[in-house]
Amino acid sequence: MGVTSNLSEADTIKVAVRVRPLFPHELEKGAVQVLQVAEDNSCVKVVVPGPAGNKMQRDFAFHACLGPDVDQGDVLHMCGIPQLLDAALSGYNVTVFAYGQTGSGKTFTMSGQEEIICTDNYRGGDSSDGIMSRAVGYLYQQLRERRDQNKYSISANYLEIYNEGIYDLLNLKAKNLPVKWDATQGFYVPGLKTVPCNDLNSMMEIIRMGMKHRHVGSHELNIESSRSHSIMTVSCCVTSTDPNSFDFGTPKHGKISFVDLAGSERLKDSKSEGVMAKETANINKSLFVLGKVISALAERDTSGISTAHIPYRDSKLTKLLMDSLGGCAMALMIACCSPSSLHVEETLSTLGYATRAK
Ligand code: ADP
Ligand code: MG
Repeated sequence: MGVTSNLSEADTIKVAVRVRPLFPHELEKGAVQVLQVAEDNSCVKVVVPGPAGNKMQRDFAFHACLGPDVDQGDVLHMCGIPQLLDAALSGYNVTVFAYGQTGSGKTFTMSGQEEIICTDNYRGGDSSDGIMSRAVGYLYQQLRERRDQNKYSISANYLEIYNEGIYDLLNLKAKNLPVKWDATQGFYVPGLKTVPCNDLNSMMEIIRMGMKHRHVGSHELNIESSRSHSIMTVSCCVTSTDPNSFDFGTPKHGKISFVDLAGSERLKDSKSEGVMAKETANINKSLFVLGKVISALAERDTSGISTAHIPYRDSKLTKLLMDSLGGCAMALMIACCSPSSLHVEETLSTLGYATRAK
């Protein structure tokens, strides 16, 4: 089967795939590696069972494909994240989100190693740091370099969506917060704690606290964090102080949303009844609506017209991401995949979802 086309620079949504390593316990269960990344990082090759017991190879091309050997430190550049961060500093809204089944590496890719981030004195700088810590490090570095010609302010909030309820990860007492709409702000969460972060250390504290509360909160509610979506939003306002600059004195408001989505696996157990079934339906609904939103945006990119109805209002997740997906916004989807033969069906479903987003 042929390779599908690569993405052009004009795409509103770029799609990267990251394949995690095969774990020893998977090898012990007889798993084999069925996913390979091409040497030029342009596509992933999946070995799938074919007719009459034959094996077939299917190739899926994306903007970037990251294999199991790619270090955390290389993810930012390989996925073009510095360009997105530069855009946010120029006043754009951008989103980076991780999609994939539970255990495929979403949290590792977005945040890093949970046990390390949750330590009391976490300040970033660990080799296992994920995109969020590295991205905020990049932001403050850029702002430091530009501080002779600019002044800036940065703030952050961090929330979790579980079963269509919103929880503030910076304030565990705030549960089941509403989503409201107004003409200036668009969709927003009244009462959500937003913390000004004048320096990198205060931003790292937000990352640490959010991760810790996500963990504690899931214990208290007796849920698996793999069933919730988390969104950390970093807002920045940069104003030129250079009288010779064309935008002197005009504040530019941009923001970056880092989204760690709930596991995309179809929960097929007959045990899913009552609350579980409702929860499953809600998770699938958010991911389903997100899929519809990004497919509609991708269709608009290729057709060049903006007629498609984009169903942002159909889930809390897409309401909250409305001003950061589509319009003048830019997004990167990282589809996380297991390389294991034991997960090949879920992996094909993830690659299908990712392909529809292109
Ligand atoms: P998810 O959030 O998708 O459920 P995790 O990020 O928690 O998955 O990853 C599951 C396990 O795999 C974790 O122990 C994580 O540290 C490990 N892991 C994931 N991706 C990688 C990777 N690229 N390299 C090394 N370990 C990884
Ligand atoms: Mg996770």
